[in-house]
Amino acid sequence: MSAGADRLAEVSHRIADAARAAGRQPSDVTLVAVSKTHGADSVRELLEVGHRVFGENRVQEAEGKFPALKAEYPDLELHLIGPLQTNKAREAVALFDVIQSVDREKLAASLVKEMERLGRRPACYIQVNTGEEPQKAGILPKDLDAFVTACREQYKLPIVGLMCIPPVDEEAALHFALLGKMAARNGLAKISMGMSADYETAVRLGATHVRVGSALFGARPALAAHA
Ligand SMILES: *Cc1c(COP(=O)(O)O)cnc(C)c1O
Repeated sequence: MSAGADRLAEVSHRIADAARAAGRQPSDVTLVAVSKTHGADSVRELLEVGHRVFGENRVQEAEGKFPALKAEYPDLELHLIGPLQTNKAREAVALFDVIQSVDREKLAASLVKEMERLGRRPACYIQVNTGEEPQKAGILPKDLDAFVTACREQYKLPIVGLMCIPPVDEEAALHFALLGKMAARNGLAKISMGMSADYETAVRLGATHVRVGSALFGARPALAAHA
């Protein structure tokens, strides 16, 4: 087995254990393998052992890696997990199967326009800034319910879930619990939370998608991390 396949087996095992410990089914949790900064060869190692769900945080980087892999593996599912500029909305709708970072009305409007133009409707998540950090993207918790309603009724975006990135210096569990509550209150089934350091906690608190990078692919070069 490749090193990548070994790490995939380990992370999958931990996810399954955390799910069972919480009385959940391991199959209720999807592992999004975050391949940012890592090359197509690293992605291929996981594809070869059957993994199909990947995440990237930059449109341009993903465009350099994934079109060829998607041609080879048509059931590959690619998630955009990083901030999206409106001028990249068309490229994002064309390439990604899921967009986890919808965080403002202007972007919702651009996405829906491009979806109509391209005849493709990637599932969308709303990113919530649960820690209310000024430097971080995401809708503030107090504005979420109104934004969900606008996405559904005004923009008719296919909103299916919520995503968050907790502050690095706070207990992630509190943010995960808050995101779970906000998803339930809004009737949203998908909850994307948990990264390499805390994905097991996220699974215990109801994550349906965990986004794991370094635990699968190894450490990222510091300068290219742009996390
Ligand atoms: C990079 C990144 C991850 C993965 O981070 P790791 O700590 O390497 O697992 C998850 N989510 C987002 C939004 C990211 O940008």
